[in-house]
Amino acid sequence: MTDLSLGPGAGRFAPSPTGSLHPGTLVAALGSYLLARQAGLRWLLRIDDLDQPRVVTGAADEILRLLDLAGLHWDGTPLWQSRRGTRYAEALQQLKRDQLVYPCSCSRKDVLASAPHAGEDAPVYAGLCRARAARGSRLAWRLRVDQQVIQFRDQVFGEQVQSLADQVGDFVVMRADGVFAYQLATVVDDLDSGVTQVVRGADLLSSTPRQIYLYQCLGKNAPDYAHLPLLLSADGQKFSKRHCLPSLVHEQNLTPMLLLALQVLGQNPPAELSTAPPLRVMNWALSEFDPLKIPSASRVMPR
Ligand SMILES: [Zn+2]
Repeated sequence: MTDLSLGPGAGRFAPSPTGSLHPGTLVAALGSYLLARQAGLRWLLRIDDLDQPRVVTGAADEILRLLDLAGLHWDGTPLWQSRRGTRYAEALQQLKRDQLVYPCSCSRKDVLASAPHAGEDAPVYAGLCRARAARGSRLAWRLRVDQQVIQFRDQVFGEQVQSLADQVGDFVVMRADGVFAYQLATVVDDLDSGVTQVVRGADLLSSTPRQIYLYQCLGKNAPDYAHLPLLLSADGQKFSKRHCLPSLVHEQNLTPMLLLALQVLGQNPPAELSTAPPLRVMNWALSEFDPLKIPSASRVMPR
């Protein structure tokens, strides 16, 4: 149902259904929800299930059920990335037509061996296939990056600058196994859904310049960005499947998990809410949330 009092833009939350809902993922859900609502935007939901081998059956439904119980009500119907292949292929076609991408036959080993230095989240790609016509049936497609520097202002982390050529290199938009890269899929989905505000965990901050560059290549404007502090497990790692059950979000611990998420977001919910139902916590959050208080520092999960 579309609320006509809301503006034309939208925020969104895009969980990967690779397991149960972690408290760190709840921070991203809550932060994106509160920032969207505060800006008078719709809040959309997308299931990032492109990486099919990692998808756990039933995980998406469970995440949706918990968000609903927590009072994080989304607008419209959730979008499933696994059903969006045609649109990603169209975007790749546009990039091919504009000669912004080229096929690449490099193995992981080739990339590693030729990397001039370490990059943002992988070795920088040296551009081996730029000048040669890669052949074969299993080719990746890489987006050419030039010398320009990508600059943007993050609502939480402030001014950001990245040279794609020095810190990333030409990056993959479609993998050799035919799976579209996260960078391309997220940009195409956000464009098609009218998303104007991207709020997500700080682990994705360094990939944002690649996405801004993709918007430019597709001839579109990038959205506003806010990256949120991470909630780390007690061993200082990002939450993952190997972390044990008591630290996961479930129906019985929604109130303490929401309160914890609010604290990670720099808010200070009153102690009396610790015995309140989740919907009362959310009412408090909707009226008291102050985005200026969101810190950039990660927090470690309290024991
Ligand atoms: Zn190559």
